[in-house]
Amino acid sequence: MPGGTDQTLRPFLWRAEKMYPDREIVSRTNRGIERYTYTEFADRTAQLANAMTAAGIEEGDRVATFCWNHHRHFETYFGIPTIGAQLHTINPLLPDEHVQYIVENADDQIIFVDPSLLPKLEGAATDAPEFDGVSEYVVMDSEVPDTDLDNVTDYESFIDGHDADFDWPVLSEDQPAGMCYTSGTTGKPKGVEYTQKMLWAHTMMTLTPQGLGIHDTDVVMPVVPMFHVNAWGLPFSTTAAGAKHVYPGPSPSPEDLANLIEEEGVTITAGVPTVWLGLMDYLKNNDADVSSLEQVIIGGSAAPEAMIRYFEDKGIEVLHAWGMTEMSPIGSVAHMKAGLEGLDDAGYMEKRKTQGLMVPGLEFKIVGDDGEEVPWNGEDFGELWIRGPTVTQEYYKRPDANEEDFEDGYLKTGDVVSIDEDGYMKIVDRAKDVIKSGGEWISSVELENTLMAHDDVAEATVIGVPHERWQERPIAFVVPDEGIDEAALKDELLALVKDEYPKWWVPDDVVLIKEVPKTATGKFDKKVLRDQYADASMFEGSTPEDAAPE
Ligand code: ADP
Repeated sequence: MPGGTDQTLRPFLWRAEKMYPDREIVSRTNRGIERYTYTEFADRTAQLANAMTAAGIEEGDRVATFCWNHHRHFETYFGIPTIGAQLHTINPLLPDEHVQYIVENADDQIIFVDPSLLPKLEGAATDAPEFDGVSEYVVMDSEVPDTDLDNVTDYESFIDGHDADFDWPVLSEDQPAGMCYTSGTTGKPKGVEYTQKMLWAHTMMTLTPQGLGIHDTDVVMPVVPMFHVNAWGLPFSTTAAGAKHVYPGPSPSPEDLANLIEEEGVTITAGVPTVWLGLMDYLKNNDADVSSLEQVIIGGSAAPEAMIRYFEDKGIEVLHAWGMTEMSPIGSVAHMKAGLEGLDDAGYMEKRKTQGLMVPGLEFKIVGDDGEEVPWNGEDFGELWIRGPTVTQEYYKRPDANEEDFEDGYLKTGDVVSIDEDGYMKIVDRAKDVIKSGGEWISSVELENTLMAHDDVAEATVIGVPHERWQERPIAFVVPDEGIDEAALKDELLALVKDEYPKWWVPDDVVLIKEVPKTATGKFDKKVLRDQYADASMFEGSTPEDAAPE
C-alpha cells in the first residue's frame, strides 16, 4: 500500500515552501530576467496542477515539455509528477522524425513549448499522425505567437484563475514520474522511465558530499538543459536543499552565463565541456567577475585536463561527473578521497581527470571480453555493469534492447572503463567508439585529450576508419584556432601523440575541419564523421609497416 512514507518528490517541494519561503528562483526568459520566491513557485505549481487536472490530466498520463531552462519549465518539474502524471522532457534538438517517434511512443497528452521552439515543434507536428494523441499545446509565455497548430494556449492564461492550493495525492514510490529518451546516436531513441523513487533516490545521492554536496546557501545554475536527463537532477536537488535557482533560459551565450554568474552570485554551475570551452574563451577576452563560483560540474563527455586546470587556477573546484540517461543520470563524481591528501600535483590531476568514485547507493563491476570481472589495477579494462535504485531496469516498450542491455539486475552501460586501486573509474571509451587496430584497442578518448591539450586546438575528435589490413585506423579531426600555421600544427599534433603512445596509436592523418558535428546533447557526433569518412585509403599517411601492434 502506498503510504505517507513512500519515497516521492512531494516532500522536497513542501520543505522548500515551508522552510525557505523567501529563497529566490531567477530565470532568464525571452522577456528579460524574471525572479520570484519559493512561496510564489509553490503557488504557481499548485495552480498548474489544478489547470492540468481541469484539462483532464490524470495519474499515469504523460505530459511533455519542449523547453529551455526557465522558471515555467521548473514549475512543470514538480507540477506534473506530484499529481501522479509523468514529466516527459523532449530534446528539441532532435531531428523531426525522432520527435515524432517519441511523442507517439510516450503517448504525450499535453506539450508545453517555448515560444522560440514553437516553429521547430510545428515542423515536427504538422501532418504528423504521431501527434494525434496530443490534445493541447501550452506556450511558455503570456501570449501565443502566430501558429498553425490547433488548441494552443499561453501558459499564464492556462494557470490563471486556478486555485493556489492543491490537494496533492499520496503516491506510490513506484509511480512513474519522469521520462527521457537517450538521444539515439545509433538507431531509434530509447525511452527511460523514472519512478518517484528513482528521482527521490537520485536527489538524496547527489545531495550528499560524495555526490554534489548542495547547501541551502548555494546558488545553483544548471546550464545542462532541462531536456537532458532533468538537468542532471539539479532542479530537484536544489529544491530539496532549499538553495537559490538560476535558470539561464533559451540558447544562453557565454556572455549571458558570465553575467548571470556575476549578477546572481552563482556558486555551483553544471554543463558539458563545450559550454565551458565557450565560457573560458569569453573570460579570457572580457572582464567578468566570476569569483562567486565555487564549483563547476562537468560531465556528459570527458573534461580535458586543460579545462580542469583553468578553473582550479581560479580557485574553482571542478567536479568531473559521469552518468547516463539510464541512471537518472549521475553515477560517479571525481572527489578527492580521504587518504590522498599527500599526492603531488601530477598524482592529484590523475585522480581529478578520472570520472571518479561511484556515488553512495550504487554497485558495479567491470566485465572483460571473457565474461570475467577485471581487477582494479587502473590498467585492465572491460564493460561497466551497474545497478542501484537510480538505475533503470528496462527501456520503455523495447524488448529487443532490454535483452541486450540488462543482465542479472545490472545495466550494461556500453562504457569501457578501468578502475584503479583507489576505486577511481576512468572511461577508456564508449564500446562503439573504441578503435580496433590489428586486434588491439586504441582509446579514442585518450587521443582526443592529448590533441586538445595543444594550445592551438579548439576541438578534436578521433574515429576509427575501416582499413583493409588493420581493420581500423585512427584518423583525427581537429578544429584549429584561427590564423595558425596549419601544416606545422599537424606535425606538432602527431609528434605529441608519438611522445605519449605506442607508434600504432598515431593517427594516419589529422584532418583540419571548421567544426566537429554535434549530437542533440552537444557531444561529438562520430557517426556523422564515420559516414563521411568511410575509408582509410583516402587519408594522407598510410599506416607505416612498423606502426602496427606487435
Ligand atoms: P547519449 O549521449 O547516448 O544521448 P547520455 O546522455 O545518457 O546518452 O550519455 C551517456 C554517456 O555519455 C555515457 O555512457 C558515457 O559514454 C558518456 N559520458 C557521460 N559523462 C562522461 C564523462 N564525464 N566522461 C566521459 N564520458 C562521459
